[in-house]
Amino acid sequence: MDSQRRYSIAAIGADGIGPEVISAGIAVLRTLADALGGFELEFEEYDWSSETYKKTGQYIPDGGLDELRKHDAIFFGAVGAPDVPDHVSLWGLRLAICQTFQQYANVRPTRILLGTQSPLRSCGPRDLDWVIVRENSEGEYAGQGGRSHRGQAWEVATEVAVFTRHGIARLMRFGFEIARQRPRKLLTVVTKSNAQRNGMVLWDEVAADVAKDFPDVKVDKMLVDAMTARMVLDPSSLDTIVATNLHADILSDLAAALAGSIGIAPTSNLDPTRRNPSMFEPIHGSAFDITGKGIANPVATFWTAAEMLAWLGEEAAAAELMICVESVCEAGIVTADLGGTATTAEVTEAVMAEIRRRH
Ligand code: ATP
Ligand code: MG
Repeated sequence: MDSQRRYSIAAIGADGIGPEVISAGIAVLRTLADALGGFELEFEEYDWSSETYKKTGQYIPDGGLDELRKHDAIFFGAVGAPDVPDHVSLWGLRLAICQTFQQYANVRPTRILLGTQSPLRSCGPRDLDWVIVRENSEGEYAGQGGRSHRGQAWEVATEVAVFTRHGIARLMRFGFEIARQRPRKLLTVVTKSNAQRNGMVLWDEVAADVAKDFPDVKVDKMLVDAMTARMVLDPSSLDTIVATNLHADILSDLAAALAGSIGIAPTSNLDPTRRNPSMFEPIHGSAFDITGKGIANPVATFWTAAEMLAWLGEEAAAAELMICVESVCEAGIVTADLGGTATTAEVTEAVMAEIRRRH
């Protein structure tokens, strides 16, 4: 008689405002599952953080990654502490998970939620609706390179960007799949192939190859420098955007700012083969300046939760959650980063009340 769909979620709040927004996200997800029925969510919380790293020398305890593998998805807060170097915390927790689970596609939807505003004059909610697909495993962040002659005037450092046909093709294919599912079927491939003659040219070649399998998707090529201007000057001309690890990292911060606030944007680290769990997180960091004040915007985490539900196959619940989040924003119940006065708890309560009111 048990036709209930069950999902097991690993929750890692980690540092700064991470635990605050993740517990808000869990509360909202539980309310949603109760109200809608048909599926159940079980959460297992892991208290891995920079605090545990400082005590034990490890972000992830022995066997921790195998433990994570048992879950259907990972719901992640933020990692980073003022007294731990960023590259240590990032590689110690977040990137260890991304790499172990082959989460090679990082997906960042960006749009202007109802009730929020873009800093761009005359940019309404329908004028900016993008999905940025970031290569999440190689490129400029492959960790290849080194330094010689340390401290000398003639010191040399190299940071080698690594691109493979396999790595580009699997990402490109995934980008095309996303573009195909969206109404406009428009994909913009971003590179810097006028100045970089190897990796970026390979990107262009692989894009052209993969495009042959997606004749229904319109492909458009941009150099990353010109792309930044186009995002600001002509946002409605873009839809799905595929870019390298570094380029997309930069473009997606620009995108989040153009959409209103870093406090609303979600990101998904996906293993499109579904052999491993994927990880879902707000794009903002640990934000120690507002930690413990109860004013962190939980909307990015709610949107993240919706992305996670959609990936698990609960598209209707995901859409429902976004309707509730947007109606709360429209009612003006928003945190200070969006110009409001509401606390994290007030926004969370309002979203839960809206879910219950509609069901
Ligand atoms: P990290 O080093 O982990 O990236 P950070 O301290 O650099 O963290 P971010 O989270 O990247 O900070 O964000 C920069 C600023 O944006 C923060 O200092 C904070 O004031 C604001 N901010 C970030 N997230 C939120 C949020 N959810 N709600 C409100 N303001 C936020
Ligand atoms: Mg930061």
